[in-house]
Amino acid sequence: MAKKVPLRQCVGCGEMKGKKEMLRVLKTVEGHICLDATGKKNGRGAYLCKQEDCLLKARKNRGLERSFKMSIPDEVYDDLEKEFAALKKEFEKFEAK
Ligand SMILES: [Zn+2]
Repeated sequence: MAKKVPLRQCVGCGEMKGKKEMLRVLKTVEGHICLDATGKKNGRGAYLCKQEDCLLKARKNRGLERSFKMSIPDEVYDDLEKEFAALKKEFEKFEAK
């Protein structure tokens, strides 16, 4: 029997996927928004597919703003995009193994 995997909804495309297939976006207690590659940091989380497209969609549809109930300045999205690009390289390395 397959274990039941709790699903998370992507704030970009709205698809439901297992936690491990997604990337956690974290709002820290200080109100800082960052990517949480380990999924273990404290704070409020939102989830994105591991695709840049979904980050771009989340920026457009303000999905992250809705989940965090705050306004997110452009430079935060720019930082997220940079972090995302760096992480993507890590995923590719990991998946190539
Ligand atoms: Zn998505």
